[in-house]
Parts: sequence; structure tokens; C-alpha cells
Amino acid sequence: MKDQDCIFCRIAAGEIPSTAVYEDEEFRVILDLGPAAKGHALVLPKEHYKDITEVPEEVLGKAFFLAGRVGAAMKKALGCAGFNVVQNNGVEAGQTVFHFHIHIIPRYEGGPSMVTWKQGTADPEEQKKIAEQIRSAL
Ligand code: AMP
Ligand code: ZN
Repeated sequence: MKDQDCIFCRIAAGEIPSTAVYEDEEFRVILDLGPAAKGHALVLPKEHYKDITEVPEEVLGKAFFLAGRVGAAMKKALGCAGFNVVQNNGVEAGQTVFHFHIHIIPRYEGGPSMVTWKQGTADPEEQKKIAEQIRSAL
């Protein structure tokens, strides 16, 4: 399905201009308009899925494989030391465009720290309960 009101559907279809890095029948990879670092790219499937929970297994496999290929190319071509693969689902998780996409963010030596969080502590009994709650919903 494609959604005419969805900006990433329209970018993936080539109806709205973008700076493309790669394209095939199922995906377009573009540079992010507000890059967190030089070369920040987005993998967009051409089909519309609102987030990861809607994406079929095969498409998801191809999308993440492509993210790895693009990251490797960034290391070769841009000289980044590594890269983060980030994927947001839901407003609270920072998703702002509700068409599934994968961020590939190059990381340069001496660059700013990003995609980080403060480690908490875990109570073993509580952890067991939480794991059981998740397991029962799978
Ligand atoms: P998220 O917050 O994970 O939904 O990511 C959405 C990303 O899309 C942000 O990093 C935006 O900078 C980027 N973005 C929004 N509109 C465009 C656009 N027209 N072209 C390229 N990137 C865009
Ligand atoms: Zn869409």
C-alpha cells in the first residue's frame, strides 16, 4: 500500500525530491534533511508501513541488510569510524514520520556522543517478572 498523504511514500516513489544514495524496486535510501552527522541516511521501503510492527519479515531482513551495506559504504567513502543504526517506533520513542524507516548515522572519531542513555539498575526478581510479561505477549 502507498499513502498519498505520507511524505516518505512520496519521497520513496520519487514524487518529492530527495538526495538519493541508493534505489531498487523495494527501497530508496536518502540523506536525512536534518543530519545528526555528515552522511546521516534513511532506508525507506517503497511500501507504506507505519512502524516496525507492520513490516513483513522478508522486507525487514532486506531493510536491515541494506542498512549494513550503506554503513559499510560510509566507512569506506566518508571515513567514519563506525555508525549507529537507529529505528524509532511511536511518538514517545522519537518517531516523527509514521512511515517505517531506518536511520544510519555515521560516527566520526572525536565526534559528539549520541544515541546514548544512562544505565539504570535491575532487581533480579523484578527482571524475572518483566521477562515473563513480555514472553506471555509474544
Ligand atoms: P524519526 O524521528 O525517526 O521519525 O525520523 C524522521 C527523520 O526524517 C528526521 O531525522 C528528519 O530529519 C527526516 N526528514 C523529515 N523530512 C524529510 C525529508 N523531506 N527529507 C529527508 N529527511 C527528512
Ligand atoms: Zn508512507
